[in-house]
Amino acid sequence: MRRTEYPAVLRDLIAQLRQMPGVGPRSAERIALWMVQARQEQPEAIARAISATRTAIRPCALCGFFATDDLCEICADDSRAKELLCVVEQPTDILPLEKTSAFRGRYHSLGGRISPLDRVAPEDLRIASLIERVEKEKPNEVIFALAADVEGEATTNYLVELLKRFPVNLTRIAHGLPAGGGLESADELTLYRALSGRTKL
Ligand SMILES: [Zn+2]
Repeated sequence: MRRTEYPAVLRDLIAQLRQMPGVGPRSAERIALWMVQARQEQPEAIARAISATRTAIRPCALCGFFATDDLCEICADDSRAKELLCVVEQPTDILPLEKTSAFRGRYHSLGGRISPLDRVAPEDLRIASLIERVEKEKPNEVIFALAADVEGEATTNYLVELLKRFPVNLTRIAHGLPAGGGLESADELTLYRALSGRTKL
């Protein structure tokens, strides 16, 4: 006898939800059932919010952070110190650093790090635009705030080689950031100390 299942359209929704990070099969089923059984318009509101956000948000043309205009809030802020440029791996690394209030300069996110295993080569990252910024904005100091693992180190070293021909101080934060975009796991005090105690490269 054929096993009864949910109708195909509902099974498809569950399968779609399962593609979201952190959503396993059980949660996907629960969310899908909530969506079809909800009496209010909440599921529709969520669908509209997803669509509106997808349309509105784009990477900042300068630093790669999330923006709704050409430039993000940080890059558009004239009071931010132009002479300090902090290089991070991911745009999501920027907010945890902002929360420490230890840094009033600008950022540049690479969009990842060099990783032969994951087939991420230098040209896949926002490195050309970093060099362009160093040439144009002429910062006094470029601070590297990449992960403290092998790939983060290798990426920092690669960039140091590229940038040492410019008249700029190259430094790194005292302790590298935790690997895997897990900046949330580094508490504010640790990040504050890491930013305050920079070492010359
Ligand atoms: Zn920006």
